[in-house]
Amino acid sequence: MQKTALVCGAGGFIGSHLVKRLKREGFWVRGVDLKYPQFAPTEADDFLVADLRDPVNCRAVVDRGFDEVYQLAADMGGAGFVFTGENDADIMHNSALINLNMLDACYKRNVKRIFYSSSACIYPEYNQLNPDDPKTSEESAYPAAPDSEYGWEKLFSERLYLTYQRNHGLTVRVARYHNIFGPEGSWRDGREKAPAALCRKVAEVADGGTIEIWGDGKQTRSFLYVDECLEGTLRLMRSDWTGPVNIGSEEMVSINQLAQIIMEIAGKQVNLKHIPGPLGVRGRNSDNHLIMQKLGWKPTESLKTGLAKTYPWIQAQVDALKKK
Ligand code: NAD
Repeated sequence: MQKTALVCGAGGFIGSHLVKRLKREGFWVRGVDLKYPQFAPTEADDFLVADLRDPVNCRAVVDRGFDEVYQLAADMGGAGFVFTGENDADIMHNSALINLNMLDACYKRNVKRIFYSSSACIYPEYNQLNPDDPKTSEESAYPAAPDSEYGWEKLFSERLYLTYQRNHGLTVRVARYHNIFGPEGSWRDGREKAPAALCRKVAEVADGGTIEIWGDGKQTRSFLYVDECLEGTLRLMRSDWTGPVNIGSEEMVSINQLAQIIMEIAGKQVNLKHIPGPLGVRGRNSDNHLIMQKLGWKPTESLKTGLAKTYPWIQAQVDALKKK
């Protein structure tokens, strides 16, 4: 029997890549989203355009028994979307409704196994003040103090999924993604994250030009290439470990260093102009002890290797836009 999967958020960045990966594995895949993927046609066998805030839509989407359900749909974006405060009500309302309604529909339709994409944004701000030594081990999530409403919603939803496992016997897997990047993601719509935004800025200026960086650029992060994110996601989904578990890279860099790596790939040297902007925590890195212990695996690809695959795609988008 052909295995079946449902991908919620299949029109988005990670969801559209996940559909491709599941198709390569031989799955029959249904995708659902508010929109089709923006940069390439979907490879899903069946794609429903539906608003998952509506419980009626959620029940209609789960009208058959899927072997695997991946719930990635969320109202989200990079620092320019999440940390300004202007989108807080939408983020909490929209994403909480999606999770409440999708999870209940899966339970009522007897879905056996569901994956939920949480985020490193659930970790307390007080452990991420030192850019050289942030703490993100899984148990350090409590006492909770995320620095954004996006993080609070993710934490609530993690707990929601785990209650359905405890009370209703649903098999739940929860990952905390840390800054996923790669081609075919937001790059100029206001929801882009640092790697895509910096690739775009470098691609747009000539050698010797100047690009703007939010803050002093000394804030640290780690970034994980999308293919490794999917490898970890599938390994977790099919393992016996419930999670929550970090899926992220341990290669921590400052934003200034990230810009430097992109310049090397682009073959350009540009000046960095530091300006005020939304920032998030001072330091963050993935702690991969638990994923290594439970799954015997952790991501290993270097940041530079992933950026070398991402930059040409963003350069091509910039060039195509200029031609228009
Ligand atoms: P994305 O914004 O590209 O994809 C999310 C998709 O959800 C979008 O296509 C959007 O249209 C869809 N969606 C939003 N509201 C919907 C609704 N009401 N009904 C149906 N679909 C709806 O984001 P992504 O980067 O692909 O992230 C996927 C998941 O991973 C999200 O849950 C996100 O919070 C989580 N995550 C991502 C990262 C990252 O770095 N990309 C980090 C941590 C967690």
